Amino acid sequence: MSAMDSEIYDVAIVGGGAAGLSAALILARARRRVVVVRGSAPRNAPAAHMHGFLSRDGMPPAELLALGAAEVSGYGGELLDDVVVGASTETPEDYRLRLGGGRVLRSRRVLVATGLRDELPRLPGLRERWGRDVVHCPYCHGYEVRDQPIGLLGATEPGAQARAMHLALLLPQWSEDLIFFPHGMPLSGNDRAQLDARGVRVLDGEVARLVVDGDRLRGVEMADGRAVPRTAMFVVSGLRANNDVLAALGCAFDDDGWVVTDPSGRTSVPGVWAAGNVRDRMAQVITAASAGAAAGGAINGDLVMAATMLTS
Ligand SMILES: Cc1cc2nc3c(=O)[nH]c(=O)nc-3n(C[C@H](O)[C@H](O)[C@H](O)COP(=O)(O)OP(=O)(O)OC[C@H]3O[C@@H](n4cnc5c(N)ncnc54)[C@H](O)[C@@H]3O)c2cc1C
Repeated sequence: MSAMDSEIYDVAIVGGGAAGLSAALILARARRRVVVVRGSAPRNAPAAHMHGFLSRDGMPPAELLALGAAEVSGYGGELLDDVVVGASTETPEDYRLRLGGGRVLRSRRVLVATGLRDELPRLPGLRERWGRDVVHCPYCHGYEVRDQPIGLLGATEPGAQARAMHLALLLPQWSEDLIFFPHGMPLSGNDRAQLDARGVRVLDGEVARLVVDGDRLRGVEMADGRAVPRTAMFVVSGLRANNDVLAALGCAFDDDGWVVTDPSGRTSVPGVWAAGNVRDRMAQVITAASAGAAAGGAINGDLVMAATMLTS
């Protein structure tokens, strides 16, 4: 391969979000030769503030990662502003990662921490408000819209419909002024009874668009012309793991397309780990960081065991 590094890293980490950087910190402090290919923006980049991370609550997402990156490089970890576009396993001790810039990295272990993509409902005005007043997670954003007139949009995919119902039952905890817009999502008699028990109003019919004025969400316009004032809308996004690198390395996936791992993040391919949202769709920033740290420790232990076998 052209432009291939002759030196071999102990660990190459794909993705410089909370999971990847947290693993890098553990590994760099364990005196491993570690490189992080950072990629681009993390999943929560559209949000101005990150919530629910003890001691960092309210911090801008980019600030957390900048602090983390400085800590990693302070211990000698390398950070590359590039993206992995190809990957292969030469031997269980020699992985190759091809970067968009042309360089090929070699490493003895790989951690994939590439996160996931949110597929948003197609509705005029929605994408532009994502992470601002169109949100998905009550633990991330609920407190900020407490007691406000909020809405929840129904989902089309069956898996997402269960999550939409779950969200509908949770949200009255943050605001009693909640309207559920099924927008074509079927609701059983039992669903409606549960919503009623939680005081959730249901407005049947098709939503035509979100109404935005002065850079703020003002409400929802129904297809029949009704205008419903709302200051925030919750939606259920489709969750798609960024699996390309794991797939290129030959990792096994379950029937829903999520990588199969043990609790430490070890995949079906020896020497390849996964951490954060790429393997756990429910991970928050703090739990993604925790999973990265756990994977970092497990990878270090695996390298120690390999060295022990070689020398015994
Ligand atoms: C709008 C919004 C707001 C949110 N707010 C909160 C909140 O307030 N609190 C909270 O706890 N959680 C919040 N979350 C969830 C949070 O974003 C995730 O829990 C967290 O980002 C998961 O961390 P991660 O490291 O697994 O993935 P990410 O943070 O997404 O990092 C993955 C990184 O991998 C990179 N990457 C992808 N492919 C490649 C490749 N081929 N090569 C190299 N790099 C690659 C990506 O560019 C990205 O930088 C929010 C999510 C959204 C969508």
